[in-house]
Amino acid sequence: MKLLGAIEAGGTKFVCAVGDEDLNVIERISIPTTEPSETLPKVIEFFKQYQISSIGIGSFGPIDINKDSDTYGYITSTPKIAWQNFDFIGAVQEHFDVPVAFTTDVNASLYGEYKKGIAKNIDSAVYYTVGTGIGGGAIVKGKIVQGLSHPEMGHMSIKIHKDDQDFEGNCPYHGNCLEGLASGPAIEKRAGISAKEIHENAQDWDIVAYYIAQAALNTALMLSPEKIIFGGGVMHQSHLLKKVHEQFERLNNNYIAVPPVEEYIVTPSLNDDQGIIGCLALALNEYQS
Ligand code: ADP
Ligand code: ZN
Repeated sequence: MKLLGAIEAGGTKFVCAVGDEDLNVIERISIPTTEPSETLPKVIEFFKQYQISSIGIGSFGPIDINKDSDTYGYITSTPKIAWQNFDFIGAVQEHFDVPVAFTTDVNASLYGEYKKGIAKNIDSAVYYTVGTGIGGGAIVKGKIVQGLSHPEMGHMSIKIHKDDQDFEGNCPYHGNCLEGLASGPAIEKRAGISAKEIHENAQDWDIVAYYIAQAALNTALMLSPEKIIFGGGVMHQSHLLKKVHEQFERLNNNYIAVPPVEEYIVTPSLNDDQGIIGCLALALNEYQS
């Protein structure tokens, strides 16, 4: 049996796993994201216990995923100083002479849902993580979309809600882009309390739903995917998805024909394992190619 390695590198923790070719997780470990000199040795130590055939990495970013670039496989201009210009693939391949796949954390989650979850058996899907930041990734015709680099859909410009005109947003680059208005920390800045404590009937959620629905509509208009998935901590608010559906239908105004909105705009299906399963699937591709 071939063993695959997966590294889901998040801003707060690294989840490392070994799995089989059916993308079942066999063993996993969670390691705090501190700095490379501390976190990486623990990652290496974990995988040294196994005979790994290939490794898939889904990383926080921005990262360089352009194979023709000199800094391919690096974390680039992240606000996390210790991780800036970190040669992620290089650090792994120093210890393991195996193929390594490298993509964004959100692309990995999307790929997991595409291979084993709610986007299985379809050809195109988009995934957003609405958490500490907002990231987005797309699959078109079975391929993860990338151009110069990976998409940055979380920073799209959107219309401001009429009752949110005074909120300046919290994106250090754009102020009130999607992430600056609807990420967890943006929601908390607007409300002045933890997002978990905001009552489900509070207008804050109507405002957030309006923004997420705009992201969904923009996505539907630009890429026409078969499914749009919203994951991340903020979507743990179980009432939010319905509000997004309502706003989406209002904004679309029956312009584009999409499946019933409950099937079209969905939350992930793999119990927060979508990222690690996606990394295993990417590792499997490397091994098979
Ligand atoms: P990360 O983006 O760091 O990987 P999460 O996706 O869990 O992790 O996002 C964390 C953010 O999501 C926090 O800023 C918090 O505001 C928000 N969040 C987490 N859980 C909830 C919840 N149950 N309800 C609302 N917001 C939440
Ligand atoms: Zn921004």
